[in-house]
Amino acid sequence: MKGLGEDLREFLLEDYKKRGICELYPPQVEAISTGVLDGENLLAAIPTASGKTLIAELAALYSISRGGMVLYIVPLRALATEKYEEFSRLEGGGINVGISTGDFDKKAEYLGKYDIVIATSEKVDSLIRNDSEWLSRVSCLVVDEIHLLDSIRRGPTLEVILARLRNKNRGMQVVALSATVRNARQIADWLDAKYVVSNWRPVPLKEGVFFGGRIKFSTVEEDDKDKEREVVSPTIKEPVVALVLDTLEDGGQCLVFESTRKNAEAMAQKISKALVKALDVDEVSRDALTNLSQRIAATGDMKIVQRLSKFVRSGVAFHHAGLDAPQRTLVEKAFRERLLKCVVSTPTLAAGLNLPARRVIIRSLKRYDASLGSVYIPVLEYKQMAGRAGRPGLDMYGEALLVARSPEDEKYLMDTYICGEPEAIESKLGVESALRVHTLSLIAGEGLSLSSLDEILAFFSETFYGHSEGTWQLGFHLISVIDFLRNTGMIEGEKIFEATPLGKLTARLYIDPLSAYRMVTSLQMADEVRDVTLLHTLCSTPDMRTPYLRRSDFELVESFLAKEEDFLLFVPQPDTIDYDLFLRELKGTMILEDWISEVNEDVICERYGIGPGDLKAQVETARWLAHSLTEIAKLLESEYHMVSKSLEKRLEYGVSSELLNLTKVRGIGRVRARKLYSAGITSPADLLKVPQEELARLVGGHGIAASILSNLGVKVEELARESADAEIEKNEVYNAQKTVFDY
Ligand code: ADP
Repeated sequence: MKGLGEDLREFLLEDYKKRGICELYPPQVEAISTGVLDGENLLAAIPTASGKTLIAELAALYSISRGGMVLYIVPLRALATEKYEEFSRLEGGGINVGISTGDFDKKAEYLGKYDIVIATSEKVDSLIRNDSEWLSRVSCLVVDEIHLLDSIRRGPTLEVILARLRNKNRGMQVVALSATVRNARQIADWLDAKYVVSNWRPVPLKEGVFFGGRIKFSTVEEDDKDKEREVVSPTIKEPVVALVLDTLEDGGQCLVFESTRKNAEAMAQKISKALVKALDVDEVSRDALTNLSQRIAATGDMKIVQRLSKFVRSGVAFHHAGLDAPQRTLVEKAFRERLLKCVVSTPTLAAGLNLPARRVIIRSLKRYDASLGSVYIPVLEYKQMAGRAGRPGLDMYGEALLVARSPEDEKYLMDTYICGEPEAIESKLGVESALRVHTLSLIAGEGLSLSSLDEILAFFSETFYGHSEGTWQLGFHLISVIDFLRNTGMIEGEKIFEATPLGKLTARLYIDPLSAYRMVTSLQMADEVRDVTLLHTLCSTPDMRTPYLRRSDFELVESFLAKEEDFLLFVPQPDTIDYDLFLRELKGTMILEDWISEVNEDVICERYGIGPGDLKAQVETARWLAHSLTEIAKLLESEYHMVSKSLEKRLEYGVSSELLNLTKVRGIGRVRARKLYSAGITSPADLLKVPQEELARLVGGHGIAASILSNLGVKVEELARESADAEIEKNEVYNAQKTVFDY
C-alpha cells in the first residue's frame, strides 16, 4: 500500500486484519495488475461476493491520495445506505465519506467537501442537471452493478450519466463492477477500460437440480463424488420444505427465492409449520426469536406484519418490497446473525444486499410479464440468485438448487441455467420514454447544453447504445422525440433547439416530459379542481407506478368512479385498451386520497391489499410529483398553484388541510396533530398557550412536549429537551428510511 498516507495505511492494515483480509483474492490480484491503483480504467466482471468492493475501495483511496475525489454510484437507495455504512469506517483513516439522498432539484454543493460521495444513479443524474460544481472535481468514478445497463428502468440513466461525466471530466478514472456477463469486453471497450473476467469464488458453488427426491449436481471438481444426493422425507411432500429442513439439520441456513410476494409468504408459512414440528431449538434461540417476533410486531398492526411476526418465532421469515424498512432491516440482521434459519424472498434480495446462505433454493424460474404472460427469467438473473450461496468462513461450499417438475424440466434447467452462459448486456436507451427524458435534459442542461440534432447525436454516440448500435437508427427515434418536445412546448427552434422555461423546469424537476405535459394539460383543462382531480392527474403520469388491481378491487374502484367521474379529467372509454390502466390509476388515487384524509395506515394497507413499503413508496413519489405540479402551476401562473402546494404538504404528512399549521412544527406528525386539533389546539400559537402538563398528555410524554416547545423557540429545561430531541431524532431516522427509493 505504498502511495497512501502513513495514517491511512496504518488504519487499513489494522482494519483489513480485523476483517480477515490477509491476502488478496486471485481476481483482486489480477485487477490490481491492470494498473487500477495508478488510475487506469477497469471493468471487473466477477461473481457476487468475490471481493469487487475491495478493488473499488483501493482504487478510490489511491485516487484520493493523489488529491482527487471519488463518486461511487449504486443502483438502489438501500444499497447507498449499505455502502455508506461500510465506507464510513474509513473516517478512522482520515477519509470523509458522504451520501447523497434527498430531493432531486438541489445542487447539493455541500457534497464537495467529502472525499467519497455515495449516490444512486438517479441522484447523480439530477446533480448533473443542476450542474453541481464539485462534479468536475471527481477523479475516480466507481460504478457498482454496471450490468444494470440492461435494465429498462435503470440502464438508460446509468449510461447517460457515464457519458456525461466522462465528457465533463476527460481524465476521470472509471472503475466499473459487474456480475459475469457475456459481453464484458464490449462494455470495457466502451469505457476504454482494461477488464478482468473471472468465475472464481471464495466459497466454491455447487449448482444442482432437485427432482424426485434427488439432487443432481453439475460437476464442480473432477474428483467430486457428490454428483447426486438423495433428499427424501417420508412426511414432507413439498420439495422446497424438504430441502430447507435438510440444510438446517446440517447446521446451514437457507435462502429461498419465489417469483411473487404471495408465493414467498405462502412458502414461509409452509416452512414455518414444518420447522415448528421438526426443529429442535435451544432455549436461548427460542427466547431470541420470541424477542425478534415482538420487535417486528411493534412496527405495526398490519396483517402482513402479524404474519411475519408469527413466522419468525419458528426461525423463518419472508422478505419483499411490501415490507417497510424497519421490518426488512430486522429480518436481514437476524439472518446475518444466524438467528433466522431461512428467509423466503422475491428476487429483489438477490440484486442487492449481502445476505449469504449455505443453500439457495430457487423454486420457479418463471416470471409474469404484463405483455408476454409467463416467461423464463434470464440466466444472468439466475446466476445472481445462485451467487448468494456459500458464507465465507462458515461453509465449505455453497449450494444453489433449482426445483424441477418433470424429467424434461430437469434437463432444461440443467442445460439452460446451470450450464448456461449469462446473456449479453444490451442497451435500453433506444426506448422512447428514456430518449425523451434524456434528450430534454441534454437540451435544457445547465452544464452541457446541446442545441442541434448533430450535437445530440454526437453525444449519444458516446453512450453504450451509440457504442454498440451506432447512431443511424437512433437518428430516426430522435427526430420523433424532438417533435414531441416541440409540440408539447418543452423546446423551441427548427434546427437550433432551445429549452423553454417549461422544458428547463421539467428537466430540473427530473420528471418525464410526458408527465409535465399531462400536468400542464390538467391545469389548463380544469374548471373545478378537487383533491381527486389533482391526485388522479399525478397517478396518470408515467412517473407514477400504478398499483396492481385485484379481482376484489373492481367493485371498489367502479363505485369510486361513479362518485367522482365529474371531477376527473382523463377518462377513457370503457372498451379501450387504456381502460385497465385507468382503473389502476384510480386505485392509486384512492390510496392517496385515503392517506391525506388521515385514514389509518394499517387500514389503507388492508383495504387495498398493499404492504406498508408500497404505501410509503407511493406517497413519496406522489409528493414529488405534487411538488412538480406546484412548480409548473407557478410557472404558468395558474390559479391552482396554492391548491397544489397545499396538496404537496398534505401528501408529505398524510393530513387534511386544517392540520397543516400543526405539522409544520418539528415533532408533530399526523397522529399527534389530529389529537391536538381535536383538543382545540389548532396552531403553533395555541401550542404556546397550553399548560405543559396538558401538552405532554396529548403528545405522549414530557420529553416530546418539551422538544416541541423548544422547536417553537421556548426555553425549556436543558435535560428534558435533550432527551426529547434524542427521541424525535430516533423517530426521524426511522421515518427517513422509509422512502420510495429504498425499494
Ligand atoms: P462483491 O462486491 O464482489 O459482491 P464484496 O466486496 O462485498 O463482494 O466481498 C464479500 C466479502 O468478502 C466481504 O465481507 C469482504 O470483506 C470479503 N473480502 C473481500 N476481499 C477479501 C479478501 N481478499 N480476503 C478475505 N475476505 C475478503
